[in-house]
Parts: sequence; C-alpha cells; structure tokens
Amino acid sequence: MCGVNAEQELPFSSKLTALHGVGPTYASALAEAGLETLRDLLWALPYRYVDRGAVRKIAELDRWHQPGGERETVTVIGTVKDLRQTTTRVQRMNLMEALLEDGSGTLRLIWFNQAYLAKILKPGDRIIAFGPLALGRHGLEMRGPAVEVIGRGAEPEEPWIRRFLPLYRKLGPLTGRIRGRLVQEALVKVRASEEWLPAELSKGLPDLLDALRLLHQPPDEADATDLETRTTPAHVRLATEELLAFALGVCLRRAGRLRRRGIVVPTNPELRERLRTYLPFHLTSAQRRAFKEIVEDLTSGRVMHRLLQGDVGSGKTLVAFLAMAMVAETGGQGALLVPTEVLARQHAFTFTRLLGEQAPRMQLLLGPMKAAEKREALARIASGEARYIIGTHALFQEAVTFQMLQLVVVDEQHRFGVKQREALKEKGFDPHWLVMSATPIPRSLALALFGDLEQSVLDELPPGRQPIATRLIEPDDAERAWERVERELAKGHQAYVVSPAIDPSDESKVPLRDIQAMEGLLRARFPEATLDVVHGRLKAEEMAVRMARFVAGESKILLATTVIEVGVDVPNATAMVVDHAERFGLSQLHQLRGRVGRGQAQSHFMMISGAETERLRALVETQDGFRIATRDLELRGPGEFFGTRQSGVPQFQVADLLRDHKLLGRCREAAEKALARGLTEGQLAWLRQEHARLKLAEIS
Ligand code: ADP
Ligand code: MG
Repeated sequence: MCGVNAEQELPFSSKLTALHGVGPTYASALAEAGLETLRDLLWALPYRYVDRGAVRKIAELDRWHQPGGERETVTVIGTVKDLRQTTTRVQRMNLMEALLEDGSGTLRLIWFNQAYLAKILKPGDRIIAFGPLALGRHGLEMRGPAVEVIGRGAEPEEPWIRRFLPLYRKLGPLTGRIRGRLVQEALVKVRASEEWLPAELSKGLPDLLDALRLLHQPPDEADATDLETRTTPAHVRLATEELLAFALGVCLRRAGRLRRRGIVVPTNPELRERLRTYLPFHLTSAQRRAFKEIVEDLTSGRVMHRLLQGDVGSGKTLVAFLAMAMVAETGGQGALLVPTEVLARQHAFTFTRLLGEQAPRMQLLLGPMKAAEKREALARIASGEARYIIGTHALFQEAVTFQMLQLVVVDEQHRFGVKQREALKEKGFDPHWLVMSATPIPRSLALALFGDLEQSVLDELPPGRQPIATRLIEPDDAERAWERVERELAKGHQAYVVSPAIDPSDESKVPLRDIQAMEGLLRARFPEATLDVVHGRLKAEEMAVRMARFVAGESKILLATTVIEVGVDVPNATAMVVDHAERFGLSQLHQLRGRVGRGQAQSHFMMISGAETERLRALVETQDGFRIATRDLELRGPGEFFGTRQSGVPQFQVADLLRDHKLLGRCREAAEKALARGLTEGQLAWLRQEHARLKLAEIS
C-alpha cells in the first residue's frame, strides 16, 4: 500500500483535468463544489461507509424484522429486477416499486412521491438500499429506502473486494459512483508530499497520503464506529493539518500586528477626570477592568486588537464610549462600526446623551443619507470637527476621508473584514481596533478562534438587574402572554412582540403566523395601545421613524422581526413575546431576551411555541449567555452558530472545533514554536495553499 508506484507522479496541486476520467463537464461540476485540485478531491471524504459485515441477505431478513416492534433499518445489496411506477387510487400518490434480487431471495422496495427515482434507477442496476422493513400485503418490504447505485450493466464489481464501501455525494452530473472512481484514480497517481507537521504533532499518525488511502479505501480491519465518528488516526491526521494551518495563520497575524507601531494615545489625570464627568453611573468592576486593559493598549505603542466579550446587557457600549472619548479628547477620531442602521441611530442617541454639551462632536454616517446631508457629514469627518463617528459599513467607502482616525470599534460582529483594515491602510491609517462580540463565545473556544486578539470579558451585569422571568407558553395558552403584556402596559411600560421572518418559499409543515396576522391580532387585543411594526423590508427612513417613536416611548408595542435582535436599548420595555420561538437559535433568543430587563423593573420574556420545547427550556433554566452559547454550539455546530463565511470562522473539512478543541490547543503551541524557529519557503507555500482551501483570510 505504501510502495512507490511508477505512476505516482502528480503533485497534490495538479488540476483535476489531469485525471483520465475528467473532461470539461465533470471539471465544472467539481469546480462548482470547490474541488479543483487532486488535493481538494481527496480531502472531500466519503459521507458514509457501507460495512459489508452489516449487509443482510434477503432470505434472512425475517430475522431482522420484529412485527410491531422498533422499525428495524437494514442494509441490503442486490440487482434491480423490475421497476414500475403507478398512481395510488385513494390519495393519487405516485408509487414507485422495485424488486431487488440478491441471490438469496427478492425484496420489494417501495417509495411514495419520489418520481425522480425513475431517473436514477434502471433495471439491471446493482444497488445498496438502506431502509426500514415493514410487513405489507405481499410480505416483507422496505419502505422509502435510501439507495445508491454501485454498479451498472457489465461493469466489474470492484466495490465488493473490500469490507467497507465508501459513498460519495453526487455533484451535478457526477454521480457518487463515478466520483469514487476518480478518487481511486487520484490515489494511484498522486505523489506523496513533504511532511509539514512538526514531529510532536505527527507522532503516531499516518502520513498524509496513507491517511487519504485509509479514508477512501478503509482496510477490512478498520473500526466501523471510528470511521463513522471520524476519529480514526487518519482523520486525526487530516484534522491536525487543518488546525495547524489555522493556528499558524492566527499566530502570524498576531506577530505581524505586534511588530506594527501603533499610535500612542496620550493620557493624563486631567483626561481621566474629564471622562469621569461623562459617566451617568459608576462603572461595574468588570467595565473598569476592561477599560484599564484598553488604556494600556492605547498607550503601549503597539496596535490594539482587542475582543470585548460580555453577556447581553453587560454594558459594552459604555466601555466603547470611554475608549472613543479617550481618543477624541486627545486630538484623534474614533469610529464606531455597527451592522445595522437601527443600531447606528440607537448608538448616536446614546452618545448624544452621554456627551451632553459636547454632542456636536458626534457624527452619524449612513449609506442612504440624503446627498446634502451626506456631503456635510463627510466634510465634518474630513475636517476633524467630528470626533465620534458612528456608522454602518458606509464608513469604509472610498469617499470617506478621516482627519485623524485612531480607533475603530466594531459592535455586535464577530469579525470585521481584513479588507476594511486594508482600505484604511491605503488611506494612511492603521488605527486601534476594539471588537465587541454579539454573542458570548465560550471562553476556551474564543481563545482558540480569536487567539490573534487580546481579550477582555465583562462577566458582571450592572447592579440592580433582576433576572428576567422567562416562560415557555403553548400556542393554545397564548392569552397568558397577552395578559402579561396588558399588565406591563398598564404600568406605563412598553413591550416587544417578535414574529419570525417568513420566507414565502418555505413550505414547512407547521403553519406559521406571519407578521401581518400578528399585527391584526395585536390591534384587536390591544385597541388602545399605540403600535408600530418594523421589519427588514421597510425603507431605512421609515424604519428610523418608527424605531425612534418606540425609543421615545410614544408607541407602546413594537412588533418586529429580528431586526431588533441586536443592540436595541429601551430600558422602559419590560415584556417581550416571541411567536414560534422554535424558529430561533438559542443564542438568538438570548439576544432577544436581552432587549428587556435593561432597567430596574422586573421584566418578562415569553416564548410561544408548541415545538422543540426541550431545547427552548435551556433559556428558562439559565440566563448565563456563555452557557447558552455553549449549548447552542453543541446543538447547531460552529458553522451555523457563527453564521459561516463572513464571520471568519474557518470551514474545516475534517476538523471539528468542538470535538477537536484540545487538538487545536496543541496545534496552537506547535505553531508558536514553529514560528519562533522560522518557517521555510516550502512551509509557507503549504500554508498559503491550506489557507486558500480553508478560505481563510490571506496571510500577510
Ligand atoms: P450590551 O453589552 O448588551 O451592549 P449595553 O451597553 O447596551 O449592553 O448596556 C445595557 C444597559 O445597561 C444600558 O441601558 C446601559 O445604559 C446600562 N448600563 C451600562 N453600564 C452600566 C453601569 N455601570 N451601571 C448601570 N447601568 C449600566
Ligand atoms: Mg450592545
């Protein structure tokens, strides 16, 4: 298996067209899935392995079927003898039937409303079928099985040589079966690459090519469970490569930043005194600690890159404000970058209050401003008249010239684009960065993922907060929620009602109440209350007007989609009702809950839901955002949790951030050591290639 083969001449970086089987059609199907080189193809592992040891003979299936018991799912392999499509008389459903023969007997396979199968299956095909057995009119049958064609016509039966048969997903015109053959061809032709892993990581692991062979052609003695859970040494090998590449990238970015000279922001006791006069209340000790850490960075002579983490409501804005004030009061400019206009206006409002007489030094900059208004804003930013600048990504457009940008604060986003920093550099600025995360990230994961940033954590809520009374309410009991809202309104408080955003193409089985229906319900139930509705399709200006009415207390109920999810701060709002709560992630619900409980009064958070109540209960049980985030991550996986791509969280093919976080720690240590020794040209080339594959930010 490891012998050198005369054919092994292609490097991993060869284009897939170097394989005999790949012409333009397949090449474009592969490229569409991001597979362009031999390396890409080989790293795309089978989605499943069929263990021949677990394949049943049709004649013996009786033994695996317990009438009335658990529906047993079995695997059978055979040849399709007969295939027919009919329409059922009663419900007019499309019924597809196949007769499968395996030498020991025949089995009927049936599917309802899966007419597309007629395009996939042909009589004479050898197939694998996995599905549940049931007793039908004609005896034992398999209902709705998943099938894979593994042989057709006179093709040799190569799959049967081994115990494990790898299955690959179909990519457009490229069937899993043909893809499997390309993989085999690639394994024969590819040349082993140099070993890039340091010895402390590679010890006990197969080399890369052997690992790929083990995963695409598992030996008969492999452990079926380890293969399935992706924990064989071969998997660990691939995961280690991915994680080391990632860790090296993080360490390189950090090292590069520490070498840059940062603007030294001067500080003195007088300045501190002035900042204190802006504060409406005493800082919590966590806020004080975080601010101190920021001051140390700003005066250090290095470029600050700090992540400020804290639960919803922990008072991140005030810390950001102080950092900006420190810069603004000493001749610089600070910019606060936020994801939405709602949030930008909200922060502008907060800053105006905090700044008092100094409020004219603040400037809002939004994409859709009127031309004249925008021109003035840009002029104020360019002249330095504006020192506190708040805006959306419009801040980074070409037209914006800063006078003396020293600090950028990014609110409610996990990552900001490397591009934005580059854009600023081109304008001659290399400011300090403070990033505030929207969702608390479990600490160990944050260290691993954002290890290129320094971290401050606000692990304390401002005093006087009471836990938010959280309830899960069945749809039939919704009146209980409305009664609570009524009582809060009677006390002069305000309430939010959140409807899930509804995608009309979503044909989910549960009928959803959309935002219009909810508006009707609320207007009928609360005829006296002023109500505003906001959602993502509103014009920015209209949205701003309606939000402002609610912030000012002029409207009592705000009915919204998740546009209010982040950052909105109305301390007088004491109740929130979320309809169809099961449509939301746990962290998202926790964010929503964080919109209430911002003042001294007892607040209420009510989730209306008849589904997934087990999952939602986590919110009733704890108010600790870090714990909820951990649970959410476990349930949804990092990809969905972080909302992929733009967040800068890598999309690993084999590594799993949750499962492998210890391994990531080891890779981090190894990366630091390797960098201390210095990377060779070859290692750098490998690293660039890995980063391109993982779609990580470029290494500078
Ligand atoms: P988040 O961390 O979720 O962004 P905010 O910055 O919006 O939280 O703060 C939440 C609320 O707590 C705001 O109404 C803010 O005015 C208030 N707040 C912040 N810091 C303090 C403090 N030290 N004492 C009392 N209230 C505070
Ligand atoms: Mg905030």
